Amino acid sequence: MLKFRSRRGSSIVVYCISLTVLLAVTSLVADIGMMVVEKNKLANAVDASVLAGAQELIYNPTQVEVRVRDFIAKNGVNPAAVQIVVNDSQTGLRVTAEKQVNFFLAPILGFHSADVSSTASAVVLPVSGVSGARPFAIEDQALVFGENYVLKAGSGVNGNFGPIELGGAGAHVYYNNIVNGYSGRLFVGDIIQTEPGNMSGPTEQGIDTLLLDCDHYPACTADHFEPNCPRVITVVIIDSLDVSGRADVTVVGFASFFLEGVAGSGNESIVTGKFIRSVTSGEVSEIQSDYGLYGVKLME
Ligand SMILES: [Zn+2]
Repeated sequence: MLKFRSRRGSSIVVYCISLTVLLAVTSLVADIGMMVVEKNKLANAVDASVLAGAQELIYNPTQVEVRVRDFIAKNGVNPAAVQIVVNDSQTGLRVTAEKQVNFFLAPILGFHSADVSSTASAVVLPVSGVSGARPFAIEDQALVFGENYVLKAGSGVNGNFGPIELGGAGAHVYYNNIVNGYSGRLFVGDIIQTEPGNMSGPTEQGIDTLLLDCDHYPACTADHFEPNCPRVITVVIIDSLDVSGRADVTVVGFASFFLEGVAGSGNESIVTGKFIRSVTSGEVSEIQSDYGLYGVKLME
């Protein structure tokens, strides 16, 4: 009888110890799981903020910090606990953020909270590959920001007025490429063909469509525009336009222009745009010549 009771007593002790260990392990697992989730959320917030900040390096360098802290705050992180370092050449930045994660169960073991942190860096580099290019090419030259450039001439040289063939020949493809941008990808080094002829009708219709499609208020200008404005177009820079008829030309870069308009039809079918600094999504390259159009690259 006594023997039996004593056995029962020891098994209760063992059971109680096991339950405590089990609870402790469960609480640790649950809270470590939560810490991992919070660290991932923080990493995503920091990645998003560094990408947004990098864009501002191009559009508005004085607003980089504001933009980063905005993004961080929207993701539930105290923007005061963020370090932002912009490099000397203003071509990249690093963002570090910290967050305190409060534990739910681990306090029974004496652990109340832990700090998680995340760092991300991004650089802006000239683009070497894009999609959505418009069917206009200009010759390689030193471009000046804010200056007007002719993207399509009213009177051609050897049949060429500036348009290029992207994804097919003919006025219909040309018009579609003006309105929607070329859906394929173009890379520096690609050999493409010019699209000869004035095509003043489709030019006017296409350009007027883009001008009307800016529904931003106040209406965009070259000095103040929404980056996604239909008037902000990517133009192809080629080695030379001094070719005869439909001919091969080589892509050397990409530039962004704010579309000013088309002067008229016939000899007046002249499309002009202001050269601007802009950011697009696309391939970037450290060795690509700088034509003012950049992509953002997240660094590890
Ligand atoms: Zn606009």
